[in-house]
Amino acid sequence: MGLKIKGDLLEGDNVKFEKTPNHGGTFTPDSIVIHYTAGPSLKSAVRTLTSPRVSASAHLVIDRDGSIVQLAPFNIVTWHAGRSSYAGRKGYNNYSIGIEIVNEGVLKKSGSVFRSWSGKKYSEHEVVKAIHRNQTTEKYWHTYSEEQIETVLNICELLLANYDIKYILGHEEIAPKRKSDPGPAFPLDKIRNKLLHAGRNEDEDEEEAETGRVVAGKLNIRSKPNTSGSPVARPLRRNQKVKILEEKNGWYKVGVEVEGWVFGKYIEEE
Ligand SMILES: [Zn+2]
Repeated sequence: MGLKIKGDLLEGDNVKFEKTPNHGGTFTPDSIVIHYTAGPSLKSAVRTLTSPRVSASAHLVIDRDGSIVQLAPFNIVTWHAGRSSYAGRKGYNNYSIGIEIVNEGVLKKSGSVFRSWSGKKYSEHEVVKAIHRNQTTEKYWHTYSEEQIETVLNICELLLANYDIKYILGHEEIAPKRKSDPGPAFPLDKIRNKLLHAGRNEDEDEEEAETGRVVAGKLNIRSKPNTSGSPVARPLRRNQKVKILEEKNGWYKVGVEVEGWVFGKYIEEE
């Protein structure tokens, strides 16, 4: 898609600049905060975030098709985080680049369709049912498009290459009592792990990992490579496939939904 950053601005075919009057002074960002707009369209989001009557803004807004509007250069404070704290610091507007993604957030089921707070209807394939990290019950969440996820990943990569970024956070993590964005429909943990835990790239590890198959009826999976290790999950079942991550004293560290240690005799390598 050919995105790049020049002079604190994104450049690319899908990027437009629309200046917001809602901003502070210059700063050096070290974090990225991800949001949803809780609205149906780019147009309504940009209108709000550039309105002088609203004390809100962000650096970027990402449309459903992955196109981007930048509202302020990355070295200017914008107003997206509000009352917030994380890792011992308060007021994340002063540390972070704000990325708003066009997404409705929570949807309510009504018959065979799903409705946003504004009443717009969505069909089943635009909805995921999931438990938010700050909540305990399942709700319906508007999906993000692949183009949006891909674009946000690209932008985060670019920002990491151009600024000294320490954290990629959700608004829900810096203001957990007030906010639920970007919510469980957005692969925040995946993006964060991929970009910030370099040198321990989980995707690459998984590709290189050997696979095996359980050849015992029930196989305990433990926290340590010996029988004193406490179980970390229900026993594995016969023929269950596992990834072999490590070997120690005849025990294999395997990956299923969880990681833990099993006695190697009961794993047949494939
Ligand atoms: Zn937000």
